[in-house]
Amino acid sequence: MMGDEQKRQTPPHRQRCPTCNAARQGERICRRCKSDLSILVQLEGYADGLRRRAQHCYARGWYRQAASLAQTAVSLESSPENLRLLACACLLSGDFARAWRTAKQLTRSAGSQ
Ligand SMILES: [Zn+2]
Repeated sequence: MMGDEQKRQTPPHRQRCPTCNAARQGERICRRCKSDLSILVQLEGYADGLRRRAQHCYARGWYRQAASLAQTAVSLESSPENLRLLACACLLSGDFARAWRTAKQLTRSAGSQ
């Protein structure tokens, strides 16, 4: 049975090898250029774990902890999903300046896609 995380569509920036741009699906070695992607895959997994922990805290109303975890997730991967979570957690924890900066970053990243 697949978890929610696996059912989500793979974000576009995770669908290509950063070396040769071949399609990938989480493999540790690129099937075309044979680049070792194991550290990248590990970091993606770590960022996913941080986001899940941040979502867990957010759902319980622990917004400062959620913002802290989401900030770390964003530092690894500034995906729209991580940025949205960070902006909302900052907003609800009263850190309006960081919420605003994050919302602007989200708008810029949406414009570049
Ligand atoms: Zn490659």
